[in-house]
Amino acid sequence: MQPVTHKHLPKLLSPAMRIFFGSVIVSAVLIIIAGAISIPFYFESSSMLYKFGADKTLLRSGKIMGLIAACLVILQAVLSARLKFMDRIFALNNLMNFHRITGIFIAGCAVIHPVLIFIPEDMTSIPVSFRYWPEFVGVFLLLTISGIVMVALLRLKLKISFDRWRIMHQWATFSVYIALFVHLLFVSETFEKGLPGILLFCVIGFYALVFAKVRFKTIMIRKKPFRVSSMALTAKDAFSLKIQPDHGKTPSYLPGQFGFISFKSENISSEAHPFTIASSPSRPGSLEFIIRTCGDWTRKIGEVQPQDPVFLDGPYGLFTHLRCQRKTELIMIAGGIGITPMLSMLRYLADTGDPRKIKLIWSNRTRKHIILADEFDSFEKNLPNLRIIHVLTDGPAGNKKNKKLKLDQSGLERLLSDCSKVSAVFVCGPPLMMKDIGKALIRIGFSRRFIFTEKFSL
Ligand SMILES: Cc1cc2nc3c(=O)[nH]c(=O)nc-3n(C[C@H](O)[C@H](O)[C@H](O)COP(=O)(O)OP(=O)(O)OC[C@H]3O[C@@H](n4cnc5c(N)ncnc54)[C@H](O)[C@@H]3O)c2cc1C
Repeated sequence: MQPVTHKHLPKLLSPAMRIFFGSVIVSAVLIIIAGAISIPFYFESSSMLYKFGADKTLLRSGKIMGLIAACLVILQAVLSARLKFMDRIFALNNLMNFHRITGIFIAGCAVIHPVLIFIPEDMTSIPVSFRYWPEFVGVFLLLTISGIVMVALLRLKLKISFDRWRIMHQWATFSVYIALFVHLLFVSETFEKGLPGILLFCVIGFYALVFAKVRFKTIMIRKKPFRVSSMALTAKDAFSLKIQPDHGKTPSYLPGQFGFISFKSENISSEAHPFTIASSPSRPGSLEFIIRTCGDWTRKIGEVQPQDPVFLDGPYGLFTHLRCQRKTELIMIAGGIGITPMLSMLRYLADTGDPRKIKLIWSNRTRKHIILADEFDSFEKNLPNLRIIHVLTDGPAGNKKNKKLKLDQSGLERLLSDCSKVSAVFVCGPPLMMKDIGKALIRIGFSRRFIFTEKFSL
C-alpha cells in the first residue's frame, strides 16, 4: 500500500475560493441576462416601433420574458453537463437541484411571453398562415418546454421509469435548443444582424462547445474501461462491487465522492447510474461500490459477471470530511445504504490514523440490513475516538449496541449530548429522514453551515 497523504487527492477549493468563483459565475450569468433584457430597449424590432404607451410596455415585457427564458435554457445545458469545475464550486447535486427549479421558472416565462405579446396585438386566436411559421416554432417550443417540466414533476405518478424518462428528456431538450435558435433567428429581425445577431451566434458556438465537451468526455470514458473484479452479497439486498482499471491507475478521488457507473454486460443494461465510491483513496488499485437493490436496474446488479467491462464517469461531489478543518469533530448520521459515503470517509480516517472525535449514528431496518458489520466493528479498534451507534427501526433490538430509538429531535439530543455544537455533521439517507434530521439538528443548536447532506437522487 502506498503511504497515505492528502497530496494524492484531488484539490478541494477553500470555502473562500468557492465563494469567489461562485460569485464570478453567478455575476456572469446575471450580466448575460441583463444584456438580454436590454435588447428590446436598444434594438427595437419593427413590431415595437409602431406601438406606444401600455401596448409598447406589454410587448417589450413579453420579449423580455422570452429572452430571459432563452438565457436560462442555455444555462440549463451548463448545469446538466456534469462539468468538473462547476462541480468543484457548487457540487453536482446542488446544480441538478437548481436545474430542476430553473426548468419550472423557464416554463413560467415561456407561458407569459406569448400572452404579453398577444395582448397589444389584440389577438384572440393565432393566425394560421405560412408566413407565421417562426411563431409556430414558438408554439412548439412552449408546448415542449411545458411538457418537459410536467413530465419531470409527475414522472413517478405517471409511472415512467427513470431511464425511459431520461432518454425522452434528452431528446426533447435537444429539440428545444434547435427550435429556440430557429425561433430567435426568424421570429423578428432583431437577431438577423448587428450586435444581437453576433451574440446569438456566440451563444450557438458556446452551446456547440458544451455539447462537444460532453460527447468527448463520453468517448474518453469508454476508452478507459474498468473490469469487474468481484461481486458479493454483503447484507440483505446489498452487493459489494469491486472494479479495477484495465490500464493505468484508479482515478484520484476524495472519500465520500460518487461516480456514474455503466456496464457492458449481457446481464444488465448499459445506462449510467450514480453510486458512492465506498472504497478509500488511501487504498488505490481498485474501487468498491456498495449497491442496494431497489429498482429494475439494481435488482440485476448481482448478475454482473467478473471481467465484465465497467465505465466510470467521476468523481463528483463535495460530501467529504476533507472539506472541514483537521481537528473538527465529526458526526455522521446515515440511514440504510446512505452509509456508503461515511464508509469511504471512515476507511480513509482509519488508514490515516485520524485521532479526532467521531460519532456515527447508523439507522437500519434490521440487523440483516447492516452492511460489512465486521469492518465497522474493526474501525472502533483503529479509530480510538470513534463511537458507532446502531439504530434499528424494525424488529427487536439485537444487543446493547443496537438501540431501538427514533432519530427525532429528542432521540438525537440524547445521542449527541456529548458532542460539540460546532462539529461537522454529515447526513445521508432517505429524503424524508434527511429533512427531519436537518431540522432537528438546527433546533438542537448545530450550525446550518456545518450540516452537510447528500441526497441519493439527482
Ligand atoms: C450521489 C448519489 C450516490 C448514490 N450512492 C449510492 C450507493 O452508494 N449505493 C446505493 O445502493 N445507491 C446509491 N445511490 C442511489 C442509486 O443511484 C439508485 O438507487 C439507483 O440508480 C436506482 O436505480 P434503479 O433503476 O434500480 O431504481 P429505480 O426505481 O428505477 O430508481 C429509483 C430512483 O433512483 C434514481 N435513479 C434511477 N436511475 C438513475 C440514473 N440512471 N441516474 C440518476 N438517478 C437515477 C431516481 O431518482 C429514481 O427515482 C446514489 C445516488 C446518488 C444520486
